[in-house]
Amino acid sequence: MLIDIGVNLSNPRFKDNIEQVLLDAQAAQVNRLILTGTSVAETQAVIDLCDKYQTRFPKMLFATAGVHPHEASTFDHLTNSALRELSQHPSIVAIGETGLDFNRMFSSKTSQERALENQIELAIDCQKPLFLHERDASQRQLDILKTYRNDLPRAVIHCFTGSKKALFSYLDLDLYIGITGWICDERRGSDLQKIVDNIPLNRLMVETDAPYLIPRNMPDMPKNKLNQPAYLPYVIDGIANHRDETKDMIATATTATAEYFFNLKK
Ligand SMILES: [Zn+2]
Repeated sequence: MLIDIGVNLSNPRFKDNIEQVLLDAQAAQVNRLILTGTSVAETQAVIDLCDKYQTRFPKMLFATAGVHPHEASTFDHLTNSALRELSQHPSIVAIGETGLDFNRMFSSKTSQERALENQIELAIDCQKPLFLHERDASQRQLDILKTYRNDLPRAVIHCFTGSKKALFSYLDLDLYIGITGWICDERRGSDLQKIVDNIPLNRLMVETDAPYLIPRNMPDMPKNKLNQPAYLPYVIDGIANHRDETKDMIATATTATAEYFFNLKK
């Protein structure tokens, strides 16, 4: 059994074949998916998906409630209260995706920081873990996380692609690290491949970030280039190539860690 901790299932590219995507995931032993909420509307959309497929796929879908840094400029007190309400839904197992992205800068730094702080406070208030994103902003993100260090619930840096220094700083704060198919990319993943064995096995989780980041180690690349949760085993292959443990050990450990981290009922 595997758990994909980052799936953008509300993405329009999945619209007409969600049932097939879930069946394919099951066939690949990917039995639990955490759907990523990236705005109030998308959080509502992933909650609706959890509700809609609950009978057909029991205990398979869970979700996060959050506002992505790209959307942070829209974050105001109405967003805050809407998120607080959505976070009460039984399918919501984490707060986020939130964080800082100084790479593409779709929202100003100030608005990103304000949105992040609001969501950290929500996670503390509702005692749910944090699902964090970060690009080119590790020092600022670390500074903010440190100010909440004593109250900070469990937190994961999803789709980690940063430097060794950033990795060690996040681990020093006792954070968890999510690894995607980025590790399977022989070009842009080469830095990550060199440092992935520094992550303690009990701090590691795996994700596809589908429909993005298709694992480039797939023997037959699908023509539509659409990533899906069924391809999570390729991410594990990619990690195992650069660590001492076997694929099975990584699969077992990352599943146990995700069950604990998101407090998923067995
Ligand atoms: Zn992200």
